[in-house]
Amino acid sequence: MRIRAAVLREPGRPVTVEEVELDPPQANEVLVRVAAAGVCHSDVRLADGALGEGRWPIVLGHEGAGVVEAVGPGVEHVAPGDRVAFCFVPACRECRACRAGRPNLCEPAAANGVRGLLMDGTSRLRLPDGTVLQHGLMTACFAERTVVAKGGVVPLPDGLPLWQAALLGCGVVTALGAVRNVGRVQAGDSVAVFGCGGVGLHVVAGARLAGAATIVAVDRVAAKLELARAQGATHGVDAGGRPVGEIRALTGGGVDVAFEVVGRPETIRLAWGAIRPGGTVVVVGLAPKGVDACVPAIEFLSDKSLRGTYYGSGDAARDIPDLAALALAGDLDLAGVVTHTTNLDGVEEALDRLRRGEGGRTVVIVDPELAGGTP
Ligand SMILES: [Zn+2]
Ligand SMILES: [Zn+2]
Repeated sequence: MRIRAAVLREPGRPVTVEEVELDPPQANEVLVRVAAAGVCHSDVRLADGALGEGRWPIVLGHEGAGVVEAVGPGVEHVAPGDRVAFCFVPACRECRACRAGRPNLCEPAAANGVRGLLMDGTSRLRLPDGTVLQHGLMTACFAERTVVAKGGVVPLPDGLPLWQAALLGCGVVTALGAVRNVGRVQAGDSVAVFGCGGVGLHVVAGARLAGAATIVAVDRVAAKLELARAQGATHGVDAGGRPVGEIRALTGGGVDVAFEVVGRPETIRLAWGAIRPGGTVVVVGLAPKGVDACVPAIEFLSDKSLRGTYYGSGDAARDIPDLAALALAGDLDLAGVVTHTTNLDGVEEALDRLRRGEGGRTVVIVDPELAGGTP
């Protein structure tokens, strides 16, 4: 079928909305009519060619929600008409990583994801001239419709508007998982969050839900510090000043856990300086390929840890329904991180806002009727 989609032809050129061909779902695949999609900093990294060669032409978009239109043979957990969130690591449940309880590191999903292909190693997307298009993070949801692997859709409870549910499959899973599964934030802990965009704001919310006593939000944009306070930050610190000194003064020597949600060596270094002996830095931000991070190695002697995380380091397919339930109960304010809404033609402008470090999440409303009422 012919659909409209946001295509990156090559890095450095703006994303363009084009008519592309989408093939029907094959075995173990699902066709979804997209309702809404969030614009994430990983889309910027891909659009800027910062994740390595060979990743274009591509249909971007990996955080979204929609309604199932058709399923291929072998799909049993969803049926046409079901409301779903996308999950961009469709775990195979059979490989070494999956069997070890680490489905976020599923090996075939990782290999095909980097190549922009579905789990069978092929694409369902083409330009009208026949050129094969990659599926952005196996999801490609800046599009009217998409075909994903069966593990790439997770059923949603009734009641949550799809424009809000759209955020669950990247920003919310990544942030809440970083807090719970990696930072292991406990009641009474002190936490710092470097970078208060769409993901950082959910890290703040996750720290609040975990019972952190002190949550210091750090950003260079005052408006984002205000958004962070609304999500539960107890303090806001200007990243352009002396954030490490301020955090150490506020917490009597440093926080228990610092989350870096920017993806830059400079902020990783700041986060390292902001933790106390025995503390942990969790790097959530996606750095460009080829960039090194440095910390003073002697400080490993004070039991400091520098930890990585991918996609919440848990089981997204299991966690997304729980996170949706938290949102329905009013414990997670998904709408509160959304600062802009747009349509497919506004993707490039939303990427530019992220490049400038402005705003929280932009949500692309692909189908206003399915997406539900927006602010
Ligand atoms: Zn993302
Ligand atoms: Zn696997």
